[in-house]
Amino acid sequence: MASSCNAVVMTQGAGGSVELLNLSQHYGAVRAVDDISINIEAGEFVSLLGPSGCGKTTTLRMIGGFEIPQSGTVRIDGVDHTNTPPHKRPVNTVFQQYALFPHMSVANNVAYGLRAQHVSKQSIQTRVTEALDLVQMRAHARKKPQQLSGGQQQRVAVARALVLRPKVLLLDEPLAALDRKLREEMHIELKLLHREVGITFILVTHDQEEALSLSDRVAVMNLGKVEQIASPSELYDTPNTAFVASFVGSQNFISVERVGPDRVQLHGRTAGFGRDTATGPTPQLAVRAENVGVGLSEPSPDLAAVHGELIGASILGNQVRYVVQLLDGTEIQSRSPRSAELFSLGTSVWCSWRHEHGQLFDSPPKETPAAASA
Ligand code: ADP
Ligand code: MG
Repeated sequence: MASSCNAVVMTQGAGGSVELLNLSQHYGAVRAVDDISINIEAGEFVSLLGPSGCGKTTTLRMIGGFEIPQSGTVRIDGVDHTNTPPHKRPVNTVFQQYALFPHMSVANNVAYGLRAQHVSKQSIQTRVTEALDLVQMRAHARKKPQQLSGGQQQRVAVARALVLRPKVLLLDEPLAALDRKLREEMHIELKLLHREVGITFILVTHDQEEALSLSDRVAVMNLGKVEQIASPSELYDTPNTAFVASFVGSQNFISVERVGPDRVQLHGRTAGFGRDTATGPTPQLAVRAENVGVGLSEPSPDLAAVHGELIGASILGNQVRYVVQLLDGTEIQSRSPRSAELFSLGTSVWCSWRHEHGQLFDSPPKETPAAASA
């Protein structure tokens, strides 16, 4: 999407900071957004990640000015914009539905906002061309939206937002309607575009891969609250809660009991752990699928291990995914490099992992997000 010849449109330093202070929006009993505070730096790419209904769009709408919060403050580029109408904020939004005008050409769709601002005709032409160049759509300027593919329509929607030179671009699930391959291409383009224009991007998504691959930082939301905001690698390595752990990567949870300062009872054996964020006596031991190996014989005490029956085996490209059911019904997933031997269903097997790969959390996630089991 980004090309090097048009860095004139916007440059480094063009972005605005966004501060959300104790922001809340309740609809009757529904706490859509519940006292969230986030600081987003100028030029940063931040994603709001969470399951459907956790309050992502409501948060974005309050930044964009489409909703006034019940309480709290929205500061953009250091200025209190809590009650400013949308068109007076240095912010523009790409919505879930692109909502291009079907009877207008691509160029006129992009020019629309500038005409409304009474920008001169010549200036409009220059800026529309620049914006279309940024998303590599100049060649399609005269087409109507229905003559474009979904990905091209999405690019036009981005150009239409960028042409107004906002300091902050808000994107609400902009790629949700695209198929997987196109979505991955657009990820690369969006990231390049962000680097080129230098403005702040805030992306709403329920797709963990999208959030982790695009963002400088990800805010993981659950039930109207931000559970953790951190870089993708921090979220992956040091999740603060079971919910965050379950939403970032594919995670197994096993109920255990503490039997010492650094040991837990793990079915018939004891195990250690690398991190401990739990406070109660019966925490959950979490271990990622990619850290779990499956074998036929009982591992030495150097490893944490549980015994069960193989109930699932599937090949995912160069990986094998196994599902093992423990005696109490708990299912453990393992992902490992594909080897010559594939165990057959019904085999009695051991799942094992290095003690330091285990993490203790207080409560199990309330609901397992779809993304975690993918
Ligand atoms: P997300 O974008 O994360 O899927 P939303 O911010 O759209 O979530 O919604 C958060 C919660 O607020 C949901 O339970 C939703 O049903 C509710 N909600 C959102 N907008 C309204 C509204 N205008 N009136 C009543 N409830 C709403
Ligand atoms: Mg939404």
